[in-house]
Amino acid sequence: MSNTRFFEQVNLNFDRAAKHLKFTEGLLDQIKECNTVCHFTFPLKKDNGKIETIHAWRAEHSHHKLPTKGGIRYSMMVNEDEVKALAALMTYKCAVVDVPFGGAKGGIRIDRTKYTTAELERITRRFTFELVSKNFIGPDIDVPAPDYGTGEQEMAWIMDTYKSIEPSLNAEGCVTGKPVGLGGIRGRTEATGRGVFFGICEACENKEDMKELGLTVGLDGKTVIVQGFGNVGYHSAKYMMEAGAKIIAICEHDGAIHNEKGIDIEALYKHRNEHGTITTFKDVKLIKDSGSAMELECDILIPAALEAQITADNAPRIKAKIIGEGANGPTTQEAHDIMKDRGALIIPDNYLNAGGVTVSYFEWLKNLSHVRFGRMDRRFEENAARRMLDAMQVMTSRNLSDPEIAKIVAGAGEKDIVDSGLEDTMITAYNEINEIRKQYGVDLRTAAFISAVKKVGVIYEKMGIFP
Ligand code: NAD
Repeated sequence: MSNTRFFEQVNLNFDRAAKHLKFTEGLLDQIKECNTVCHFTFPLKKDNGKIETIHAWRAEHSHHKLPTKGGIRYSMMVNEDEVKALAALMTYKCAVVDVPFGGAKGGIRIDRTKYTTAELERITRRFTFELVSKNFIGPDIDVPAPDYGTGEQEMAWIMDTYKSIEPSLNAEGCVTGKPVGLGGIRGRTEATGRGVFFGICEACENKEDMKELGLTVGLDGKTVIVQGFGNVGYHSAKYMMEAGAKIIAICEHDGAIHNEKGIDIEALYKHRNEHGTITTFKDVKLIKDSGSAMELECDILIPAALEAQITADNAPRIKAKIIGEGANGPTTQEAHDIMKDRGALIIPDNYLNAGGVTVSYFEWLKNLSHVRFGRMDRRFEENAARRMLDAMQVMTSRNLSDPEIAKIVAGAGEKDIVDSGLEDTMITAYNEINEIRKQYGVDLRTAAFISAVKKVGVIYEKMGIFP
């Protein structure tokens, strides 16, 4: 699939789901279209004094809920079609996990490795200025977040720029994925990978589905290949490993590494941060053709890099029984059908990588409420649990040690609450789409689209259309 057809790919999946729904064709067309897209060009003064023109986009796919929400990516592949496709996926993703936002996405067409930190800061701040001037950012308008090639630092620059132009009580809520000290929330950085883990874990708990795939229930001992060792890939791999799965291969842009006995993800993460590559990691086999490593024998494949990585070309050679889509749009519809027809379970992007936006929602709520989760009730909860425990100790004449007591009575802090909210969201949504899958006799991707389009369609129907 060439990148220019990404939005069309999303709509092919939409059309499959739409066939099962009773909305009129006109309404379905309205939901499908991208409401607004803006192409920005602005000058960057490089450190050497030269001027370069930067191209950037922001797409707002649907305003059925406000604000709209979606990441900002820095990549040479960014174009109008890509941001529209990704914005549409955001609309459906938010609906699947009941996060009350419309979908949006933005991107700047740059290779970030070619710029100094000072240049990246100037690009990010100028883009934010452009977004403000065109009314494409604000806590109640459109709220960006990190995506491919961006992280906490860019979000901090965006927030600071926005706040200096539009100072207001809720200005911090103009962007999510910020550092904790600047209004961010504990657990956001790892949220997408953590959500990928919760989703795959829930799928692997389904006895019937595992039997059909010829797999045992649970994650323990399952072999996993991850493509992309960035934010989503690293965190997905880390939590899968901690739960007993064996990460046998990691694929990166400059090569893949393989070890049947399993790769120590924390050691690899440290190595990559020190050396800038995974390819020099010790005790692994290096595979130069990174893409071919996705075709190795394994139980679970997690594509967590970019779109269109599994196509009709390589899908027949992919052996994984479960495909957990960490990235957005990693599988074309043709590839999906090839893998589905040979019996694979594909857990789709518009559900599986929703952990990021779910925790972004919590961060936005925290910014608007101006209070940290757990601040009001943590101590109260602990005291209530302690009183209950004291009474039980008296009744049973049994005394627990201080560490035992501390473990039992511990009240929930922000990280615990975020994690519990994320786990609940991912499990509830999985069971919802799995139920739809059975009810309509479709695959999980179509089920996720049915769930999303139903929710968005009902809102459009009730709102009516402006004359
Ligand atoms: P990232 O920039 O942190 O990491 C991406 C990684 O993929 C990098 O290490 C890069 O070197 C690697 N990569 C690039 N091309 C590759 C190739 N051809 N083969 C193997 N590896 C390759 O980005 P991220 O935030 O982890 O995002 C990854 C995907 O997940 C994107 O599709 C993004 O839209 C999606 N996603 C991200 C979030 C989030 O919260 N960051 C949320 C939802 C979805």
